[in-house]
Amino acid sequence: MPFTNGRILGSMCSAPHPLAAEVYLKYLEKNIGDPGLVPGLLEVEQEAIDLIGQFLGLDEAAGRIVTGGTEANLLALWTARRLEGGSKDEVILPATSHFSFDKAASLMGLKLVKIPVDAQYRVRTDLVAQAIGPRTLALVGIAGTTGLGATDDITALSDLALRHNLYLHVDASFGGFVLPFLRDAGYPTAPFDFSLPGVSSLAIDPHKMGRGPIPSGCILFRNKDLASSVNIPVKYLSGGKTKINTLVGTRSGATAAAVWALLKHLGRDGYTAIVKQAMATTRTLEAELRKIPGVSLMLDPAPMNVVGLAVRGLTAEELARLLRQRGWALSQWNDYLRIVVMPHVTDQLCRDFVADLKNLLA
Ligand code: PLP
Repeated sequence: MPFTNGRILGSMCSAPHPLAAEVYLKYLEKNIGDPGLVPGLLEVEQEAIDLIGQFLGLDEAAGRIVTGGTEANLLALWTARRLEGGSKDEVILPATSHFSFDKAASLMGLKLVKIPVDAQYRVRTDLVAQAIGPRTLALVGIAGTTGLGATDDITALSDLALRHNLYLHVDASFGGFVLPFLRDAGYPTAPFDFSLPGVSSLAIDPHKMGRGPIPSGCILFRNKDLASSVNIPVKYLSGGKTKINTLVGTRSGATAAAVWALLKHLGRDGYTAIVKQAMATTRTLEAELRKIPGVSLMLDPAPMNVVGLAVRGLTAEELARLLRQRGWALSQWNDYLRIVVMPHVTDQLCRDFVADLKNLLA
C-alpha cells in the first residue's frame, strides 16, 4: 500500500519529504561506516546531530544517525551496561515500552522491570521509585508511546536518576520530532529532553515524524564520553583506522545526507508547520469520531497526533479485520485501534474513514 493516496492510518512512517528522496538517491554508494572514505559526510552527520540536539536542549550534541528507534534503544542500554561494568542487570521501564527493549534485554541478558501506567497511560513514577534497588542498571522513560503518544513524567524520572545515580534513557523515537514543535505550536507540553539534567541519552527517529527516508533514526547522548563508551577500534577499513560506536558496521551515507538536508531545509519553522497541521487534522478527526454513537477515544484529547479508538460491542481484532476488508490499514492493540496522523493523513482521508466507519457500524 502506498502512503500517498493510500489508506494507511496506522503507521508511524510516511512518504519521505521529496528533498530527502532526491538527496538520498545522490549518495546511494556512500558508506559512513568507513569514515576515512567520506570525511565530508561525517561532518554532515555531526552537523545533523548538532541540529537535532538544538531542538532537544543540547548545545554540544554527541551521537549517531542510526537505522531507527530499535537500534537507538539497543545502543542506549548497551551504553548503560558498558559504563556500569556488568554487575547490574535490571532496567526499569514503563509497561507501554516498545518491544525493542525486549530485544535488548534478550540480547544482553537484562531483566526488564515493567511498571504499570496511570489512567493517562504514563508510567507510575511512585512505583518506579519503589522498584529501584541494588541491581538497577537504568531507567527508561517514553516521550510519545507507540500505542497512544503518551509522555511519561520525565522530570520525575530525571530526579530519580540523579538521586540514585542511574542512567536514564528517553525513548522519543516518535515524540522527538513532535514535542519540541508542539510547544512552539502552542500546545501544552512538559519537559522531556536534555534540559532535564538526569537524562543521559535520547532516541529520536527522522523516519517517523521527521519526514526522513527509511531507514533514519538517531541516538543522542548528553556528552561525548557517553557516546564513545561502546567504541570498538577497527584497523582494517580502507579509509584507515577508526572507532565504531553503532550496532551495524556499514552505514548509509545517503541517510545522513538526506537527514542533514531536511534539517537545513525545514528548520524549526518547517517542523512546527508539519506538527501544527498534524494536530489540526487530529482535532478534526477526534471531533468527528466523538459524534459516532458507540465510539470512544482512549485519551481525549490525544496528547499528540496519535488517536486510540474503541467501538462498543466489537473487539479491536474484529474492528481491525472489518476495516482491513474495506482497505483501511489501522494498527491493532489489545483493546483499541490506533490512528497516527502522519503527514500523509489528510483531512479528506479522515473524512473518508469516518464515513466508512459510520457505514460499517450502521
Ligand atoms: N520506540 C518507539 C516509541 C516506537 O514507537 C518505535 C516504533 O514504532 C520504536 C521505538 C522502534 O522504532 P523502529 O521501528 O524505527 O526500530
